[in-house]
Amino acid sequence: MASLLRIALQKSGRLSEDSYQLFKECGIRFDYGTGKLKSVSSNFPAEFLFLRDDDIPGYVEDGVADLGIVGENVAVETGRPVQTVHKLGFSKCRLSIAIPRGVDWVGTQDLQGKNIATSYPNLLGTYLAGEGVQAEIHEISGSVEIAPSIGLAEAVCDIVSSGSTLLSNGLKEVETIFRSEAILIARPALDADKQALVDKLLFRIKSVQAAKNNKYIVLNAPNDALDQITALLPGMKSPTVTPLATEGWSSVHSVLNENEFWENIEAIRAAGAEGILVIPIEKMIY
Ligand code: ATP
Ligand code: MG
Repeated sequence: MASLLRIALQKSGRLSEDSYQLFKECGIRFDYGTGKLKSVSSNFPAEFLFLRDDDIPGYVEDGVADLGIVGENVAVETGRPVQTVHKLGFSKCRLSIAIPRGVDWVGTQDLQGKNIATSYPNLLGTYLAGEGVQAEIHEISGSVEIAPSIGLAEAVCDIVSSGSTLLSNGLKEVETIFRSEAILIARPALDADKQALVDKLLFRIKSVQAAKNNKYIVLNAPNDALDQITALLPGMKSPTVTPLATEGWSSVHSVLNENEFWENIEAIRAAGAEGILVIPIEKMIY
């Protein structure tokens, strides 16, 4: 029987929508959000399992699933021997220590002998040990941010993205101990058939990510500024330059990375480019 890759995704939570979207952009169709616990893709040899995120590293280790998407925070906290195949760039957040707003903070040493509430006892324990701080870690599974106001702990160690939850609970973030994003994890030592499917999937994921990080750019340039403008637009190999109907002008087509986008656009305009069009790219195949 042909191999079927089993992929574990979070059933419903902060990873779910972006995970589904990623597979959709990779052209892999499956039923999602129907309340079912699994779904076989109609156009890729994969079966999707919908689970709680905390359970995914364990299922991947045990071979119930071959691949999974989880936050790095969960992958590291559970400590399962799974392989990180690729970083996915969504669900970015940080694990931070926070204390009541009115309390002064000098440094991590302030936590000496204190009670800290967290859902991440391993990550926090490792951090405190590295700082040489001895504190009491109270593991709780949710609503960590209320622990100081109910007298359970003097500090918390919790996931933060905008910081608004901390703020509304009268807390301030004082130290970041871990930065996280969604990652694709795999069971080590997959058989050759499954590894070939993982490689196929990874090729698609990288093409989708490259497209997101780049824009297609079309502009008109006076011929005497072409050298300067094309030097700013290396593209995938080199830019396409074709003459315009207007004498002395050319059209330049290229690809521009999102990270240096505005700096480059400003430099290109200053060099004399006109009629600049910036167009999203759907897929980018190297
Ligand atoms: P489950 O019911 O599956 O156990 P959960 O409540 O434990 O879900 P979520 O809150 O859905 O988990 O978060 C899943 C992951 O998303 C976290 O482990 C973290 O990596 C990331 N995450 C958490 N909070 C945020 C946030 N505010 N912004 C971005 N990413 C986040
Ligand atoms: Mg969870």
